Amino acid sequence: MVLTPYPDPQVRAVVDAADLTRITPPDLYGIDCLGLADFGDGAEWLALLAAPPSRRLIVVSRSDHCPTRQALQAAYPALAHLLSDFPYPSPGHHRIIIGVVELHLIIQQPWHSFDGYVDGWWGPQPEVIQPLRHFTRPLAHGAQRVAVIGAGLSGTQTADALRRRGAQVVLMDPAPASGASGNAQGMLYIAPQREPTPASLFWLQAFEHALRSYRECPHFHPSGLFCMAEHADQIPKLQTLMAAIKRPPEQVRFMDADQASVQLGQRARLGGLFWPQSGWMEVAERVKSEAARLDCQALTALDIREHDDGIVITTDGGDYSVDAVVLANATAVRQFAPDWLRVQAVRGQISRRRADQAVTSAVCGEGYLTPAAADGYMSFGASFNPKDDGTDLRAEDDADNDRRVRELVELGDPGKPGASRASVRCASPDYLPIVGRLPDDDWIQGLAKLRTDAKWRPPHPMQGWRRIAVNVGHGSRGLTSTPLCADLVAADLTGEPLPIAKGLFEHLTPARFLIRALKRNQL
Ligand SMILES: Cc1cc2nc3c(=O)[nH]c(=O)nc-3n(C[C@H](O)[C@H](O)[C@H](O)COP(=O)(O)OP(=O)(O)OC[C@H]3O[C@@H](n4cnc5c(N)ncnc54)[C@H](O)[C@@H]3O)c2cc1C
Repeated sequence: MVLTPYPDPQVRAVVDAADLTRITPPDLYGIDCLGLADFGDGAEWLALLAAPPSRRLIVVSRSDHCPTRQALQAAYPALAHLLSDFPYPSPGHHRIIIGVVELHLIIQQPWHSFDGYVDGWWGPQPEVIQPLRHFTRPLAHGAQRVAVIGAGLSGTQTADALRRRGAQVVLMDPAPASGASGNAQGMLYIAPQREPTPASLFWLQAFEHALRSYRECPHFHPSGLFCMAEHADQIPKLQTLMAAIKRPPEQVRFMDADQASVQLGQRARLGGLFWPQSGWMEVAERVKSEAARLDCQALTALDIREHDDGIVITTDGGDYSVDAVVLANATAVRQFAPDWLRVQAVRGQISRRRADQAVTSAVCGEGYLTPAAADGYMSFGASFNPKDDGTDLRAEDDADNDRRVRELVELGDPGKPGASRASVRCASPDYLPIVGRLPDDDWIQGLAKLRTDAKWRPPHPMQGWRRIAVNVGHGSRGLTSTPLCADLVAADLTGEPLPIAKGLFEHLTPARFLIRALKRNQL
């Protein structure tokens, strides 16, 4: 099969649709990324599942009206078991992996929201995939040897995502799960907004991605999560929100206080939204077992030097030469990142009590409360102290956490206190994670005009990226954000299509802070 060169740098080649009907599967499977012009009734994609290729194949398709999982399963009963992961077809960019076939499904968004490299098209090719306003993302270095610094939720999942893509990974941390990811229990949190802002699109997509990625995790407990209204006035807004986000009842439903009390096994103060598939995780256990599985080295990274052909990392146990590095070391990223990349420490203390009276689903509002863990204790909290990186235990924080729980549910016997734990969240200035390669030094010169004209657009989008990537800024919701961000940074480093829409990447890339700093004339 001949791939026709295509002038747009984002598209490697175009296959004539007629060729595709003639080619035999082995030819087709020489392609890494195949575009389906329209998802239609899903027949072509399902044909790939019925006769799967021998190696990984990425399929990307767009659709305005996509069938639901139930409709696909009814139409193709023989493939029903493979389709159990098919997402609810809400507008946005969905990524589904079934065996070696990975489907990127872009629903009710233009083709140019896709950021990736398509080897061949099945059906007529779509309109040209456009670059972002200030920059484009040319093919990455195709990193093979990658160091990941930090083994919390972010680093362990990044190392795993890179390994799944065939990279050789060295994960390093002197004490895995010693930072924010060292809490005994954490909730898989979701709070959608009515308007489809970049942030709300990101969190919904991250939540769905996290649900799929934790399905096999023995430390995740899908007890359901009840997000309670913070005050009675909020209830009508939650009901409007339910209508706006268009999710099926198996994903989310409204419960009044009585229904919630039955669900929780304790008296709930108010109604709210119940997410039956969500739940809580034994975070520290999960991170420690992942760090061990990924052969985490007990090393502290001390220095990073970039050369033309790679990177040398100096650690307290010697030097490591790699193609690329991912900084997943939360607020300690400041040691290696440029000054314009700002993160903030937000101290938090979590309290524990014996769960003599416990909830059966996780519950959150201003604070949160988990069901009992295997040790018989439940966790609740958490205090939130911006610009504070103290990890000392404070009695006033425990008292505040007690108050937060009482605002959620009525617990007759609060239970004997257990050991509290304080640690530091790493928050970004806009409360979205910071994910992807760092822009190179040419950007400051190339975008200098932004200092005097914030609306200026460069004639040629910037495209120089360093071999240093970051995956930090997960704030209070790392359980939700880290699985998607791990896949995002791994895709960025290995030159794969991104698992999110291009427009969303603009809101997550570290480059956004460089552009903002220039616009504010701070650089
Ligand atoms: C009190 C509290 C309660 C929370 N509750 C929830 C919750 O219920 N649900 C939720 O989703 N999120 C919750 N969070 C947030 C969540 O814990 C974080 O978002 C998440 O753990 C961040 O993971 P991380 O890997 O980015 O950072 P961390 O877990 O802090 O990991 C960073 C790692 O980098 C290592 N490191 C640093 N410097 C170096 C170096 N030079 N070399 C090698 N390694 C280095 C550190 O040792 C550390 O292990 C909570 C946070 C707090 C503080």
